[in-house]
Amino acid sequence: MTPLSCSPDAEKGQNALVRITDHLFAPVRIRGEQLAELLVPFGHPAHIRRHSAAVIISRVQLVAALFAVLVPLWSAIDWLVFPWPQWAQMSLMRLGSGLVFLLLAWPWPWPASRLHADLMLLVLLLVPPLFFLGSLSILDGLPLTGSAALVAKLYGLLPNVVLAGLAIFPLTALEVLFFSIPAFLFTMIGIVLSGDLPSLMEHGPMLWLMVLVMGSAMFSGMSQLHYMAALVNRAMIDPLTGLYSRRSGGETLDLFFRLSTQQDMPLAVAFIDIDHFKSINDGFGHDVGDRTLKMVADNLRLGLRGGDILIRWGGEEFLAILNNTDVEGARAVIQRLRELGLGNRPDGRPITVSIGIAERGCDGVRDWPDLVELADSRMYEAKRQGRNRAVLPGMDGCIPFRLRAAQS
Ligand code: GH3
Ligand code: MG
Ligand code: MG
Repeated sequence: MTPLSCSPDAEKGQNALVRITDHLFAPVRIRGEQLAELLVPFGHPAHIRRHSAAVIISRVQLVAALFAVLVPLWSAIDWLVFPWPQWAQMSLMRLGSGLVFLLLAWPWPWPASRLHADLMLLVLLLVPPLFFLGSLSILDGLPLTGSAALVAKLYGLLPNVVLAGLAIFPLTALEVLFFSIPAFLFTMIGIVLSGDLPSLMEHGPMLWLMVLVMGSAMFSGMSQLHYMAALVNRAMIDPLTGLYSRRSGGETLDLFFRLSTQQDMPLAVAFIDIDHFKSINDGFGHDVGDRTLKMVADNLRLGLRGGDILIRWGGEEFLAILNNTDVEGARAVIQRLRELGLGNRPDGRPITVSIGIAERGCDGVRDWPDLVELADSRMYEAKRQGRNRAVLPGMDGCIPFRLRAAQS
């Protein structure tokens, strides 16, 4: 007997529902854990944080550059509709805001960190509500009629402008909530400062509109984040293993290499090649080979430390970037991998790998391709010596990093 939920109609309905929820935020399929990542900003992978920081900073700069020009220009309207000295005070406030926007738009040579992006966004979002409060105190007690009253009312909409502006940033729901606080807070302060008692009849519709605008900014922010993450993952992540692809891994290694040279810190890489992998494909088929590759990738990741980066360099070859790790540290990592194991081959025998290690300072290499090439050649040396082993840089001729500062 066919269970009720599997009747063709029910199945069709269920599929339609799944299709709708799959594509809730963008025409890119969404999984359960991805939904959590859209709601709260915790546990996002480093490459997604880096990309969202870069997008946020470039958009803050774009908006700030626009406002740096438009906000001081609007002084002409103040001059037309407000009397002296109010228009001059408003113009002064405009020049101050314009300067803040100009500083935000300036292409400072700082690296794009997420903290840096969040601070820039916060400053961008604080200026309009502060301007709104300033305008309230400048125009306080002034009998406003006609176009002056209209312009003053427009200033009252500034908190809404901030909320709507949030829609252009790739943010989680919680972040949109957090960045909306200034708009709501300053609106409430404005209501109290203007001498009104907060009243549901009077201010309720405006607050309701603000909540609606925040809701749509939230949806837009999550949708952008989801789309960005999907595109970035597609470009950077190997779909079979979930590891960094060779191209994106190379970019990361380039960054780590430059940082390690600047800060004179150690940097080791491990070139890892599965032994006799082809015989798994030949004996058990490509699908089993694929599953074995994925298992080895998962186990390697488990054996590495949180800050290490694992890349699928080629077919059954992996490259681990061991940041801030000298030769001794790399030896400890290999020992841990050996103890944890990498799983079994389909015939039950343990999977083994051949590893070549190279270290920037110890090997005295000039750039990261040389570092990888050296690790690769040591991996081949490990194969030649009989596989299931690691070849590390010889310690003679290498000055261990701990001693470098004292000796140089
Ligand atoms: P060695 O110990 O010398 O490294 O032997 P090996 O068999 O591991 O090395 P070889 O280079 O001869 O073979 C690597 C094999 O890995 C050949 C290729 O079919 C297989 N391979 C590469 N990429 C994939 C993949 O994505 N999936 C599967 N199933 N196999 C792959
Ligand atoms: Mg191999
Ligand atoms: Mg190989």
